[in-house]
Amino acid sequence: MAVMLGTRGFELKRSSRSGRYNGLAIMAKRKQKKTQIRTEFRKNYDQTTRKKDFRDQADETDDTTPDPLSERFKGKRSASKKRTITGVAREEAAGFSVELRDVDADCLSGRVMKVHGLASTVRADDGREFECSTRGLLKSLATDLQNVVVAGDHVVIRPAAESQAVILRVEPRRGVICRTSRKRQQILVANVDQVVILASAAEPTLKPNLIDRYLVSTESTNLRAIVCINKVDLVDPAELQPVVGVWGQMGYQVVLLSVARGWNVDRMRELLVGRDSVLTGQSGVGKSSLLNAIEPGLELKVSPVSDESEKGRHTTTFSQLIPLSGGGHIVDTPGIRQFQLWDVIAEEVAGFFRDIRPYVSDCQFPDCTHTHEQDCAVKAAVAMFKLDVRRYESYCQIQSGE
Ligand code: GDP
Ligand code: ZN
Repeated sequence: MAVMLGTRGFELKRSSRSGRYNGLAIMAKRKQKKTQIRTEFRKNYDQTTRKKDFRDQADETDDTTPDPLSERFKGKRSASKKRTITGVAREEAAGFSVELRDVDADCLSGRVMKVHGLASTVRADDGREFECSTRGLLKSLATDLQNVVVAGDHVVIRPAAESQAVILRVEPRRGVICRTSRKRQQILVANVDQVVILASAAEPTLKPNLIDRYLVSTESTNLRAIVCINKVDLVDPAELQPVVGVWGQMGYQVVLLSVARGWNVDRMRELLVGRDSVLTGQSGVGKSSLLNAIEPGLELKVSPVSDESEKGRHTTTFSQLIPLSGGGHIVDTPGIRQFQLWDVIAEEVAGFFRDIRPYVSDCQFPDCTHTHEQDCAVKAAVAMFKLDVRRYESYCQIQSGE
């Protein structure tokens, strides 16, 4: 049977949305209509969908393996402007040979640590840092709001004078985090593996609905989310169980910690080392304290919790990668430290609630908002205690744009 697989089988494989069909299954669908084989196809398909969409995602440590052919790591609304660049590189990734006249043995590959205006700091694979400008052709693709090069990009540079270099090429991106600014998409950072949502059990008070919002946003980017509750020294951890257990059941990894007491700090280090993580959460929950505990050399400023509104303080989108000595980076992005992150439209919200999603297709109306409609499977599930009431309330809040 394998012999019968032509190149088309592979084309199909590559272009399939899930990227996980095997050649056999595709051929089975194209060439044969036998129930048995079709069943096999469906089975594969279902498994893929469930794995991708639902439980266990948090346990998959390599869920974020670079896959330049797949768009699923991009935020749903990742900027189309960037396609021009990735388009070229995608062909390369797919095995087409592209002559890059300018790339030769003097060139180095590296990572963009931060971008400042038209210049950026690139750390080459050998550890040297270069202040880089961008090659003219690439630069011409930039718009007033979008940089062609963003923090986290993998790039090819040509060193010029001492610690100066030119960026020749931007590699395909995965795990992109965008935000909308003046109705336009802006990529804040690229090639991220996971989002660490940090909250505190007290001071500031735990706000489960806020964590749900972060989860919705993270879900929309298809990145792995880890829920971390700090300052558990201030409460009785047993009190947290009812709310925290619900996230755990949905497959999210949940870590209770106390940076002050050193509880579970090693666990956090384990989860962060070797990966590129966006750390997000309200001010005062202990983000700086956590980073200092994990990477003592950092000496980030720890500020006492204040009531003063933080609004408007982080208006810049300046992001930077903080290298961890054990490998990996923490992405510090002022624009997403606060809640104004990836925008999700009302109709999409239910799809980003892992627990609500399975019920949606059983609603009477295809455009059911799961709020006021008759014959709503989501509401029925809440009534039968199959869905957590607090999560449902949280859904209603987010859905209504509150
Ligand atoms: P950030 O704004 O999220 O970076 O939070 P900070 O790291 O500046 O911490 C805010 C405050 O919380 C500081 O006063 C810290 O000392 C305190 N803090 C951090 N972690 C803990 C913890 O585990 N327990 C307690 N009780 N306080 C903590
Ligand atoms: Zn419904």
